[in-house]
Amino acid sequence: ATPTAVMVATGKGASQGVLIKGGNALEKAHKIKAIIFDKTGTLTVGKPSVVQTKIFSKIPLVELCDLAAGAEANSEHPLSKAIVEHTKKLKEQYGSHSDHMMESRDFEVHPGAGVSAQVEGRLVLVGNKRLMQEFEVPLSPEVEAYMSETEEHARTCVLVAIDKIICGALAVSDPLKPEAGQVISYLKSMGISSIMVTGDNWATAKSIAKEVGISQVFAEIDPLGKAEKIKDLQMQGLTVAMVGDGINDSPALAAADVGMAISAGTDVAIEAADIVLMKSSLEDVITAIDLSRKTLSRIR
Ligand code: ADP
Ligand code: MG
Repeated sequence: ATPTAVMVATGKGASQGVLIKGGNALEKAHKIKAIIFDKTGTLTVGKPSVVQTKIFSKIPLVELCDLAAGAEANSEHPLSKAIVEHTKKLKEQYGSHSDHMMESRDFEVHPGAGVSAQVEGRLVLVGNKRLMQEFEVPLSPEVEAYMSETEEHARTCVLVAIDKIICGALAVSDPLKPEAGQVISYLKSMGISSIMVTGDNWATAKSIAKEVGISQVFAEIDPLGKAEKIKDLQMQGLTVAMVGDGINDSPALAAADVGMAISAGTDVAIEAADIVLMKSSLEDVITAIDLSRKTLSRIR
């Protein structure tokens, strides 16, 4: 496309809430044959809430949640916000009106796995199986059973370990974005296949994929693994887009021919992407591709 055509198209995109960072993304978007979607915060609303809690030791529920929220307090992840929010509500129910959060030190994010921190002098781990394996925390059959049961209901099971013992778990549910199903089927009619790649577990991933109409799913994938999936498709000669929102998506957003970030997501993802969807609506994936198709066909 000519520089003028690119300028016109990027201007048009911007006015529709689709921020295209350069001519290159615009030139490639019309060739997209496959789109890899992240799950949490991309296909789902990204506003998960805690719908069930489970205790595996003698710890009071409020204390468990307080410690988990203390560890999650400095994290931007949607799951973190859900846990902090749930803890506040719980404390209100128990008649505590203080918003005081437990002191935490040595906070660390483990992308695609969870968080760790020292809270009130105890090592608190909040996350999935992979996080627990990383810290060599054993999972009892009781914990395993609760995880399976939760995940089969399309919920994410967040484990809480205190000083390397699993003390409880939180079942978190995150609804699909209302437009998700329609966008996936419209892309199909455009000849573009959709694939879901997520750090979440297989059972939750499959049940969400089924709901949204995606048949190709890869679950329990770490951030670099997401980028690998992009490269696999590119090796088949396909032009591949990635749509994501998290820090965990940034290697894949960078590896994709066209990286699209949800603007409600993290700054790191927005920086790594070629296109930013300012309204955070999946419909704008189609807007971006349409814009590219029109711009490039006008030239010929
Ligand atoms: P997705 O790929 O679906 O966006 P992420 O890669 O962000 O998901 O996270 C994958 C999994 O890692 C989550 O489903 C959860 O089990 C765990 N996880 C990630 N971040 C956190 C966190 N801050 N607290 C608890 N669990 C987390
Ligand atoms: Mg995400």
